[in-house]
Amino acid sequence: MQYHEVCGNIHIHTIHSDGTGRVADVARAAQQASLDFAIITDHNAYHPEQAGWYGRTLILVGEELHDPARPHANHLLALGAGRDLAPVEGTLQQRIDAVRATGGLAFLAHPIDRSGSYADEPEIHWVDRDVNGFHGLELWNYMSEFKSHVRSRLTALLFAHWPILAMRGPYPETLQLWDSLLEREMIYAIAGSDAHAKSYAMGPIRRTVFSYGHLLRAANTHLLLQEPWSRSLAHDEALVYEALAHGRGFIGYDQLAPTQGTQLLAEDGTNDYTFGETVHTPGQIWFRVQIPARGSIRLLQNGAPVAVSRGRSLAYKVDTPGVYRLEVYRRYMGRQRGWIFGNPIRIVRNENCAG
Ligand SMILES: [Zn+2]
Ligand SMILES: [Zn+2]
Repeated sequence: MQYHEVCGNIHIHTIHSDGTGRVADVARAAQQASLDFAIITDHNAYHPEQAGWYGRTLILVGEELHDPARPHANHLLALGAGRDLAPVEGTLQQRIDAVRATGGLAFLAHPIDRSGSYADEPEIHWVDRDVNGFHGLELWNYMSEFKSHVRSRLTALLFAHWPILAMRGPYPETLQLWDSLLEREMIYAIAGSDAHAKSYAMGPIRRTVFSYGHLLRAANTHLLLQEPWSRSLAHDEALVYEALAHGRGFIGYDQLAPTQGTQLLAEDGTNDYTFGETVHTPGQIWFRVQIPARGSIRLLQNGAPVAVSRGRSLAYKVDTPGVYRLEVYRRYMGRQRGWIFGNPIRIVRNENCAG
């Protein structure tokens, strides 16, 4: 199938909660960043009236849900629910169930959160782990990671002017958490910017370090759509959520280098499968990876690397079932940094087809 790749940014706050910009400001920054879509998710606030096409960018509206009585735990991104779910009371499971009941998608936000010793902000983890029914997790939350690296006034000043020096990729613990969830079922990953466009005092200066313009160019979610845009809000919104529901896409840290065109294919000799898909096969599968610039490519099976390659491609023959996913790192200023994280392809042995 011929898919249509789009690049978007998810998890953005506006003045409807604790962000500083209006929807129009987000839309302008998203167009300037050449994004195809962006999804606003204010805290317990849902204002879909400003969703729509703004120039080249589709602006969608979801919601970031949490218990108002317990604000520092269990944040949940509700995407495509089509209604305000803030009034839903109760547990995280009840919120997940409420999102599902609408036909929407539930993604656990910043499941492992870290506050740097310099940032005076609470850590907001996914605490209630014994839940089910969610579609995925925010594997990489850009702002959460950024603040974790700020440990002194010096690093604050340095990273404020040169944020790319700070960023390393999703936490290893979050990748492990994802792999452990994948042992049970397909759980899909997105990146979130958690953009608020707040200004911070950094030593002697005060500056909007984390402007929408910066954050909307950083950790993006690329999706493979079944059809090209029609520029009808309802139609195009459904395309985005269909791709998110099936994990058909990857996380790309586009600030490090553009990731558009990244491919992960599993070929069984008859069909090609891509991100998020399950292959039932009695035989061998060839995995093929293509990336748009040089990087350190790793193919992982059930969380363990089984093939590595430096360059722009990797080919690897697989004959054991498992969950296979793609990671790519790229060197910048003396450090390998997370660049591309692909949703998995699952290989299931189908003995009935044997012979
Ligand atoms: Zn949050
Ligand atoms: Zn948030």
